[in-house]
Amino acid sequence: MADQKVAPRSAAFELARLLASPEVARLIAELEATRWTGRPGYPLRSMVGMALAKSVYAVPTWTRTVALVREHDALRHAITEDGECPSVYACYRFTTKLRTFEHMLAACIDRVTAALHVAHPGMGENVAIDGSDLPAYANGQRYVSKGGAERDHYSDPDASWGHRSAVSTRKGGGFYGYKVHAAVCAITGLPLAWTVETASAAETNFALDLIDSVRERGFSPRTAIMDKGYDNGPIHNGCMDRDICPVTPLRQTGRVKAGDANAPTCEHGEWTFAGTDYKRKATKWRCPTGECEPKSTWVKADRLHPLIPRHTKRSRKLYSSRGAVEREFGRLKHEWALLPLRVRGIERVRLHADLTILAKLACALAKARAAT
Ligand SMILES: [Zn+2]
Repeated sequence: MADQKVAPRSAAFELARLLASPEVARLIAELEATRWTGRPGYPLRSMVGMALAKSVYAVPTWTRTVALVREHDALRHAITEDGECPSVYACYRFTTKLRTFEHMLAACIDRVTAALHVAHPGMGENVAIDGSDLPAYANGQRYVSKGGAERDHYSDPDASWGHRSAVSTRKGGGFYGYKVHAAVCAITGLPLAWTVETASAAETNFALDLIDSVRERGFSPRTAIMDKGYDNGPIHNGCMDRDICPVTPLRQTGRVKAGDANAPTCEHGEWTFAGTDYKRKATKWRCPTGECEPKSTWVKADRLHPLIPRHTKRSRKLYSSRGAVEREFGRLKHEWALLPLRVRGIERVRLHADLTILAKLACALAKARAAT
């Protein structure tokens, strides 16, 4: 930026802009159309505004969101047209209503991702897929206290024990709760599809469904970048069936140890990679001296012989962009209050994740539009 100083946009201004965007305005209009019975209640624009404010200000509970909006004049006027802040009870009732009309929320998310796609034409070409822990708002220990009685009631029956890997600030281990599984655009870092599942469910079960959701939103991924845990035959073949090249490290299975993943060899040495035919779904390998007849051979793609061979610069470069999904989990958890969970039951946790990510994506869209 040049010498001209621009004041940072206030969060209240940001919220007014989100509520006015056509994608969110349509959600408000659709929800309004469902209100055909008596009780007038607070305007739905105020209720959607409260939900967005909760994520934009990273507030974990409705009680504190209401307290914040009540004492913050600019925020209250950005969210409500009449200046009347909705009650905590109204916020809870609104989330119940949203769960009933979840297809309207899903359609709103679709509109926002479609508009982002227009703003970023290359979005979704390379997607990074991973899962991350969401510890439950509940205690899952089997015993109420050390050496004490066995717990007879679990306050969140949908939560379960799962495993998380280590990050910089803590070691890995067991945790009780849920996992969010997401496909993130490796270029923009924005989530394209996600699902919340109980923690014990294996991450590999959701990769292909996430890819299908990304495609349903109109994106055309060409590569799917995943960690070693996703390196299995069904995921590889599922990606190939969808014309997507999986990029994963090689999992050391029996066949790999037996040398099945090695390049072809001859008396002249190891054959060299000579290109990929995406239509044929095979890679070409050549005798190092060219003395063999035929001089080259095609290797059909499978988990052991991916279309983007693991030793190539391209594969390594793509794999290094996998960090996009981990960084996005970090931002959602810490800057957008995806954590700590303050709701129980998988349906409520899913709604919380949807609202959090919608707020994040809608802000990214507003920013993209402001830049043009
Ligand atoms: Zn040879």
